[in-house]
Amino acid sequence: MSGNPSDPGNSQRRLVAIYPGSFDPLTNGHLDLICRGARLTDHLIVAILRNTHKRPLFSVGERTEMIRKVTASLTNVEIDSFEGLLVNYAARRNANAILRGIRAISDYETELQMALLNRRMRPETETIFLMAAEEYSFISSRMIKEIATLGGDVSQFVPEAVTGYLRTKSSG
Ligand code: ADP
Repeated sequence: MSGNPSDPGNSQRRLVAIYPGSFDPLTNGHLDLICRGARLTDHLIVAILRNTHKRPLFSVGERTEMIRKVTASLTNVEIDSFEGLLVNYAARRNANAILRGIRAISDYETELQMALLNRRMRPETETIFLMAAEEYSFISSRMIKEIATLGGDVSQFVPEAVTGYLRTKSSG
């Protein structure tokens, strides 16, 4: 097929996707989505939301560092952070897709609403959903933090590097 740059369906177009989230902390579920997303896209930006209303356990710097360590072998994955509207960030980064994960029906409702709102605000950016892998579909950062704070072992739910970060936080 010949590459016509004005044709949105042309095969020469680079797929640049943003995977936004809090990643507080990164879990095996997030990592699975990053690996699968990286295989599907030309460039995947894992974008940490700097949310001034939430009090995260890990700073943006710590989260950037842990994601970078764990994804070091994925050459088309970049780690960044943003604040404000996701669609404005997508426009700044020239991204044509947003990647999100769906674990259960409860995710579906809010994800659908966000995807529809984002499409109204910026139709050029399409939201792509990946179903969570069944072995990770019950994992959430919130639960991991809770277990780790109560002294539980979370090593089967998060990448090895993240276990170290959690241990340091709970002992500190
Ligand atoms: P939030 O944006 O609610 O803070 P997270 O940072 O936890 O969410 O997650 C970002 C994205 O990753 C969301 O699309 C979420 O559905 C997805 N996600 C979270 N945990 C998992 C998991 N275990 N498996 C697959 N996707 C997940």
